[in-house]
Amino acid sequence: MHAVACIEAGKAYYTNGQRDRAQQCWELSLAYYEDKEEDVEHYARVKANLGSMLLSDNDAKKHEEGSNLIEESSSIKRSIGDLDGLANNYCNLGLYYWRGKRYERAIACTRKDLHISRTVGNLRSTASTLSNLAGIYTDTLQLKKAREALNEAKRIGEDLADTKLISLVEHGLKHVDKVGRELGQAGIRFGPAAECACGSGKEYQNCCGCADFEPVDLPYEFGGVSEDVDKIIKEMTEAGVQPSRLDFILREPDQSHQTRFAWCRMEPQDGWLKMRELPDMAGLHLASARELAEEAKDLPDSVTKPLSCILLSVCAAEAFINQVAFFLHEIQTFPENHLHQVPPELSPDAITFQRSMELTQKWEILGMALCGSYWPPKSNLWTQFRNIIYLRNELVHFKVADYEQVVPSPKETHEILKRIPLKVKTRQIPHAWPMRVLTPDVAHWCITIVEQMISLLRDGYARNRRETGDPLAK
Ligand SMILES: [Zn+2]
Repeated sequence: MHAVACIEAGKAYYTNGQRDRAQQCWELSLAYYEDKEEDVEHYARVKANLGSMLLSDNDAKKHEEGSNLIEESSSIKRSIGDLDGLANNYCNLGLYYWRGKRYERAIACTRKDLHISRTVGNLRSTASTLSNLAGIYTDTLQLKKAREALNEAKRIGEDLADTKLISLVEHGLKHVDKVGRELGQAGIRFGPAAECACGSGKEYQNCCGCADFEPVDLPYEFGGVSEDVDKIIKEMTEAGVQPSRLDFILREPDQSHQTRFAWCRMEPQDGWLKMRELPDMAGLHLASARELAEEAKDLPDSVTKPLSCILLSVCAAEAFINQVAFFLHEIQTFPENHLHQVPPELSPDAITFQRSMELTQKWEILGMALCGSYWPPKSNLWTQFRNIIYLRNELVHFKVADYEQVVPSPKETHEILKRIPLKVKTRQIPHAWPMRVLTPDVAHWCITIVEQMISLLRDGYARNRRETGDPLAK
């Protein structure tokens, strides 16, 4: 009860302009709630009150403390699902940055507030956030967007029959019109190409306007460092070698059948996050092939699934080496570029290399560059790899020369069948070679060989790195 009384007393003092007393009260209630799980919601709300008050303090030194308190409060609110409270935090942050003319962050926070208020379905707070957003838009000369936001707020006011809200919004709309007239008379450009109000000298659309987008709810939380990164850094450091991001990218996954769908790159901006994705097509091709091969196991007469497996395995081999080309080329733009040697065929640009080079050539060039003395693979594996590519090409480009004799069975083994190891089961049937070759066993063989090649390149790379370290320093 004392803690609750302190919260209310704090609010009263704050409203009355007695900030010090308010702070004392709120700090007292925080001390009560600290470490009490059942009161975590109150705890987060008091933190937010205190944070907001510090943000409006005349002493700018207190602002950072205030925004830290709000961040802490937001992370609690997010974890307990207090969306109303979370929207409120973003609202206060948005107002704070708006006052400070940090429009990028102000827009990012206010759009998050709007997104959450809409999710909750709280119409009144949605309307109030729309008015804030319209204010920021007006200041940044985005008059069309300001009108859109205000008109949406007006519709909410009409739905709620809230005459006060409607008249506030109408006042806002008049203000926007007035600003528009003044800008027109002064010949000042407005809209996306307006000069950004933050003073950067850039156009709004290429500056603070970048933060103006519908926020996305990501199904995961960010934070910490991948366990794999720690492991790799430890291994490399123990070997006396400076770690590189390529060590992480080319690592052997812990569980061999784990599928990665993409690499993500996070680019933190002022109050918002830009996220870019590079699909791991090799992983996707291989996962699809494995799934089909598993299904084909129980269907000894199946030809369609084995056909897909063969094509997909070679797709994986191609997608994998193309990714490697991209990452090795890209490493030139990072500080650890001196740790890697980029082959001359790749140095101009990664796309030409990927497009113009034949598949086995790409493997040879990049394998040599990355694995050093751990390249080439044993000749048996390399030959099988080439045979799989040959098989895939024959199937894909099926060139028609003539009928193939199937009865009586020809004495000479067919060229394609010669390329398949004897232990891999084909069919002894009176049909042309594709029907004899497209078996679950051949499918399994193709996948295994491609997996072995990928593992070999990753493993050879890691060993070579631990042994040679910084090649240019030697
Ligand atoms: Zn700007």
